Amino acid sequence: MTIRTRIAPSPTGFPHIGTIYQVLIDYAYARKTGGKFILRLEDTDRARFVEGAEDVIYASLAWFDLEPDESPKLGGPFAPYRQSERLPIYKKYAEELIDKGHAYYCFCTRERLEAMRKDQEAKHLPPMYDKTCMTLSAQEVAAKLAAHEPHVVRMKIPEHEKISFDDIISGHIEFDSDVIDHQVIMKSDGYPTYHFGVVVDDHLMEITHVFRGKEWISSTPKHVLLYKYFGWQMPIHGHLPLILNEDGKGKLSKRHGHASVDYYRKAGYLPEAVLNYLSNIVWNHPEGKEIYDREEFIAQFEVTSITAQAPRFDLKKLDWVNGQYIRAMKDEDLLARIVDFDDRVKQLDKALLLKTMPLVKERMHVLSDYWSLASFFFGKPDEFERDVNAKYKEVLRSALNIGDWTHGAMEQSIRAATDAAGLKARDVFMELRLMVTGKTVGPPLLEALEILGKEETLSRLE
Ligand code: GLU
Repeated sequence: MTIRTRIAPSPTGFPHIGTIYQVLIDYAYARKTGGKFILRLEDTDRARFVEGAEDVIYASLAWFDLEPDESPKLGGPFAPYRQSERLPIYKKYAEELIDKGHAYYCFCTRERLEAMRKDQEAKHLPPMYDKTCMTLSAQEVAAKLAAHEPHVVRMKIPEHEKISFDDIISGHIEFDSDVIDHQVIMKSDGYPTYHFGVVVDDHLMEITHVFRGKEWISSTPKHVLLYKYFGWQMPIHGHLPLILNEDGKGKLSKRHGHASVDYYRKAGYLPEAVLNYLSNIVWNHPEGKEIYDREEFIAQFEVTSITAQAPRFDLKKLDWVNGQYIRAMKDEDLLARIVDFDDRVKQLDKALLLKTMPLVKERMHVLSDYWSLASFFFGKPDEFERDVNAKYKEVLRSALNIGDWTHGAMEQSIRAATDAAGLKARDVFMELRLMVTGKTVGPPLLEALEILGKEETLSRLE
């Protein structure tokens, strides 16, 4: 049996970072087992459809280099992979369920359902369909269909039963059927609802493992029933813990800018570091390592060792991981990534850029840090963090009037001049940094001046 995993996003905007973490698990599990990873687009909710969102999903997966084996774009043996292109399939299977007596047409109007809901609310009852149409006779149904009365299809839910499944991550989960609504499976516009589309497609696309966020657990009993009604084997389900906000309160929400995948690209994170961080928060490396690449993750991880407990998303920790990746990179590679990322750097002198790499590498967390740390190499600062103290200028002017423009010689000369003038070396260095870079913190100063050159340094002093 070939392992087949899938991600089934709805094209409703930028993917959430939690989606990428699911993709990572899907992708890693498929790679580990020699299986396939599928992208299916669940675009049946036309009200929430966002134009262009499908391309954004492809771009996000490409950025993380988590490419599917089959997708709407790539095609594959189970095409089409866009649910909106599969409507006749859902219609056929919905009719099969109706014929088997597991589903029924419902002709209730919006007004009737609204009145029913209000009444239930007033009586403090849970909002559930009252099953009115379940008892329509075959003749009544036929007459209404012949008269083209708008309708949906609802699935039946048995009374007083336990519905259960074994989750590969969370263990045995049981539900009471009496709290489950007679769910609409086909809408009046001919589109399936999520519950129906997901089951039909996971089955037809021969998905063996469904990994998805924990928020879908409460939907799963409906899926369990649908598999049973069709007589299909249910794929193994693993509901992944939700990623929480940093304070541990609630799911990492779109209100936080960094819930959206796009944030990471724009802020200058490296996709491989983000993936490393995401693996870290849901799984522990057997040797306690925090930095490991994707191949190592694929080789080492076991689905059953994914933590069931919801992790917190700690941006500072991610910065640390990203910084580790930056420091481990060769200067040329880091430069290529910065050039790719930052338009301001694209036209600059490559040789000079390369010389600055060792000085800034240790201080960078994200690619966007480069420009704030190193822009002074490429032009006089336009802004100064504070006013410079002119009293240091004279001392520096003479101390830097040396032939041997190396950081060692500069250091000696500045210290000697500083002692002679009765000043504190710390203050003098700080002032020199401010005059040359506009800032009071930055890369190692004298090494930077060595690169900048004597003439430019002295001109900045003036
Ligand atoms: N279309 C659902 C989503 O937007 C898929 C959930 C699932 O994986 O079953 O996430």
